[in-house]
Amino acid sequence: MKGLVRKNIRNITPYKAGKPIEETRRELGLKEIIKLASNENPLGPSPKALEAARKVLGGLNRYPDSQSFYLKQRLGKHYRIAPSMVVLGNGSDELIDIIIKTFVEDNEHIVTSRATFLEYEIIANVNGRRVVTVPLKDFKYDLDAIRKKVTARTKLVFIANPNNPTGTYVNKAQLEAFITSLPKTALVVLDEAYDSFIDVKDFPDSLALAKKGNCIVLKTFSKAFGLAGLRIGYAIADAKLTPYLEKVRQPFNVNLIAQAAAQAGLDDKHFLRRSRAAVLEGKRYLYRQLDSLGIRYVPSVANFILVDVRANSVEIFKKMLTLGVIVRDMQQYGLINFIRVTIGTAPENRKFIAALKKVLA
Ligand code: PMP
Repeated sequence: MKGLVRKNIRNITPYKAGKPIEETRRELGLKEIIKLASNENPLGPSPKALEAARKVLGGLNRYPDSQSFYLKQRLGKHYRIAPSMVVLGNGSDELIDIIIKTFVEDNEHIVTSRATFLEYEIIANVNGRRVVTVPLKDFKYDLDAIRKKVTARTKLVFIANPNNPTGTYVNKAQLEAFITSLPKTALVVLDEAYDSFIDVKDFPDSLALAKKGNCIVLKTFSKAFGLAGLRIGYAIADAKLTPYLEKVRQPFNVNLIAQAAAQAGLDDKHFLRRSRAAVLEGKRYLYRQLDSLGIRYVPSVANFILVDVRANSVEIFKKMLTLGVIVRDMQQYGLINFIRVTIGTAPENRKFIAALKKVLA
């Protein structure tokens, strides 16, 4: 049977998602489980989004608006850009696929970093496209080394900013110099899934870059707005590029509930402020605890922290699981001795530290 399958599909290592709470409950029979494995929002969904979602349930017999007209208008207003610069997707995951399908020819490739969001490589390979990866430097994207790998056959450069799983970022000056150095035949995809949590002043102005046509920016409602289960994200790009992305996407890729909830979520400034404050406060607590335990970590501008457990991270992951704490082992990212922990609520963060202490003792 295997011979029936396309060769590039046979060779793909599938994406390993964070272990679901329900699965852990089933397998280990534990009552109290916390999940700090998928960089989700621990405060739940935005209440305004939830209310809007409930209101549209009676209309589920109809297809959603294939143009997501009102949501695009709303996003246009939010960013002060033309709605025609926005393309919506079933999570930003889907936009990665749409972008690769739209731009990368058979004989072209993609360049990105090692130890970055794994979906870039997986989705490229599903599409039969090659990815060249460059090692991280001090846990950061090494833009100089990436530049050296860019050739006339490079169509896309994926940059997760902040990077998942390291939580590091490329600053404004570094990114602008990098983009200026690229040939006109290469486009940068700037994936800003975690931009709501940044607490630095030199973060790039991605919208300005998108307006100049130098890059495509990806954003999501999955993190700060707490809507990961709804699957909605978007790309912002030059209005001369977006019609091509629109051709590639499926007509009803963004469901009716997601369109309504996302619009209302954008207005939920109170929830956004609370989400951000919880992350910043939780991060300070975790840093203090890790410091006092002498455990090394990579300082993060996102809602997760890469922690050096100085032991096989799969073993640590399994031991933490028996204590009801789901984290992410970094084996698939090639960071064998690291786990990634999502910043949770204060009680969750305390439970994580207590479990980590026990496991590393
Ligand atoms: N980009 C990065 C860097 C991510 O970490 C994630 C989520 N894990 C995504 C994109 C995908 O997000 P979405 O839920 O919008 O598909």
